[in-house]
Amino acid sequence: MRHLIALFALSLVTATASANDPAPKAAKPELVKASIKPDLKASVTPVPAAASKSEEEAEVDLSVRIAEKLAELRAKQEARAQAAARARKAADAKRKQEALAAAAAAAKEHAPKNGTHWSYDGEFGPANWANINSAWAKCSTGNRQSPIDLRDGMKVDLEHIAFDYHPSSFNEIDNGHTIQVNVGGGNFLTVGNTTYELQQFHFHRPSEERINGKGTEMVVHLVHKSYDGKLAVLAVLLERGKANPMIQTVWNNLPLEKQTTVAPSIVLDVNEILPEKREYFTYMGSLTTPPCTEDVLWLVMKQPMTASPQQMALFSRLYPLNSRPVQASNGRMIKESM
Ligand SMILES: [Zn+2]
Repeated sequence: MRHLIALFALSLVTATASANDPAPKAAKPELVKASIKPDLKASVTPVPAAASKSEEEAEVDLSVRIAEKLAELRAKQEARAQAAARARKAADAKRKQEALAAAAAAAKEHAPKNGTHWSYDGEFGPANWANINSAWAKCSTGNRQSPIDLRDGMKVDLEHIAFDYHPSSFNEIDNGHTIQVNVGGGNFLTVGNTTYELQQFHFHRPSEERINGKGTEMVVHLVHKSYDGKLAVLAVLLERGKANPMIQTVWNNLPLEKQTTVAPSIVLDVNEILPEKREYFTYMGSLTTPPCTEDVLWLVMKQPMTASPQQMALFSRLYPLNSRPVQASNGRMIKESM
């Protein structure tokens, strides 16, 4: 390279000299020779004019090739930069799209849900109650839910429940989940220094509550409310046996259609559903249907009552299965009469 550059310089000098210098021809070689370094001069001397020209061409060729190569490299560099820019743009677009999708999903997740239809199996069953309506969150998040399996109770001398039930007017409704009997005012129970008034009773098949893992064919839940709005539910388990007169009164007056209320002109005596023995279990739980409200005092009578096989069969035609599965007790205290 250094060799070629030197030659190039020499040829330039020679050309300049011959074109512009009118000095005698004899002096010219002397001048040129003097300006060349001895080592360069040595290497230059044997090179013929033709060879010098060809190397000059080669030099030009090389420059051209270098320029071409540089252009090629720049083009590649440019293409790479453009490809990288395109990739960045695509990644940005993808990120934006993902962020939008995530935001939409989050909005959907947090949007208030206001479904009202629920059931005991499938899509609208107990495992999904909390997803149907935002107000039913406790059905999933609550840690004092009902029913539970009553076991390992603290056997203590529980105070007696004082019942003050009378023959009362009533009306009945098939609400799509059970047969519910709304009882006229004036029926009370008192426990723990609080008096609760009976509001309604209804049936589940099979029983929701278990005692040491064992349930019964049906259960009656009698829902009471105190003056300050506290709930107490009395559960009476039902086994097959003798017919129950109060249940028969209820069955006799079943509404022909769902969601319509029947208000018979007779009275009904709730005392007839109470077992003779008054021992019970008690714990704090919830409603066993949406909205699964907690802070409900549960009183589960130890002695079951009976209903006849015909009485059982009649309800099973309407509601073969309408009980919520057992919930975690989460270490809740269960007290039971000795
Ligand atoms: Zn119930």
